Amino acid sequence: MTDFKNEFTWSFSRHRTFTTCKRKYYYNHYGNWGGWDDKAEDDVKKLYMLKNMISLPMLAGSLVHNEVERILKSVRNGWKISQEESEKNIIATFKRSWTQSKNKDWMKNVKYNTNLFEHYYQQDITDDRLFEIRDIIVDSIKGFYDSDSFSFIKTLASTEWLSIEDLDSFEMEGTKIWVKLDFAARHGERVYIYDWKTGKEVKEDETQLAVYTLYGMDKWDVEMKQVRLFDVYLMKQIPVKVKPTAVLINNVKHIIQQSINGMKALLDDVSENKASIGKFPKVNDATEDSWPCNYCNFKEVCLDVDTY
Ligand code: SF4
Repeated sequence: MTDFKNEFTWSFSRHRTFTTCKRKYYYNHYGNWGGWDDKAEDDVKKLYMLKNMISLPMLAGSLVHNEVERILKSVRNGWKISQEESEKNIIATFKRSWTQSKNKDWMKNVKYNTNLFEHYYQQDITDDRLFEIRDIIVDSIKGFYDSDSFSFIKTLASTEWLSIEDLDSFEMEGTKIWVKLDFAARHGERVYIYDWKTGKEVKEDETQLAVYTLYGMDKWDVEMKQVRLFDVYLMKQIPVKVKPTAVLINNVKHIIQQSINGMKALLDDVSENKASIGKFPKVNDATEDSWPCNYCNFKEVCLDVDTY
């Protein structure tokens, strides 16, 4: 069916799914595998389609990340995108995504057309909710332009820039660990790592930055004490500086190792990365109204929810 091998790898988002619901983790990383292929079984194609679905807040976050990347790359190339132009662009992109979802264009191409969770599960999307999403998008872009982080980045030579949204990996005890840093630069002896946030501050953001520290130390041969970490909450323009201490780093190594062990313990065959659904339980109290099922892309197949 497919020539790609489903390799076992680790990432922070994979870990988050695993801790949220083991069944969701199975659908996301095993059940949908190969669903992009026309010759795949219908149930596999369905899981692949559901995996690619996105909620409105996630779409807002993704569009903001794309736009910030575009702004940064324009700065690197020596030309300027004004805030007004940027806001217009991101709103136009949002409208395009909305129309793709409304028209179900994803039925022709799941990967390259937006399928909104709220449309698919026929949720009531009020005007107030749409204004809220628009405010997240516009305020985040404004927050980025006004941020000290952007002011600092503009003072750096482009030769000091290390990464803008590059997907990359490093190895930890034989497992490939995927990372995607929003922005990183070297200035003097220090490496600065930034993560843009459109949501509220949560404790696990710090853990994610600690994973990036491990990557930075491996990739750029920098000592932990020379790494500077920032979670930038764009809506409020609050940059939260996180200190990479030995405790934080050892703790994240422990989290990664425990997480990998837990994931592998449920596999049928670790060397072949083979899994079967029965070993991945649903969350306790798995019903349409329970968290996290309420927000889960897979609830249609998992809970037999009637839909579109
Ligand atoms: S619907 Fe609930 S039980 Fe099923 S995969 Fe999603 S979160 Fe897990």
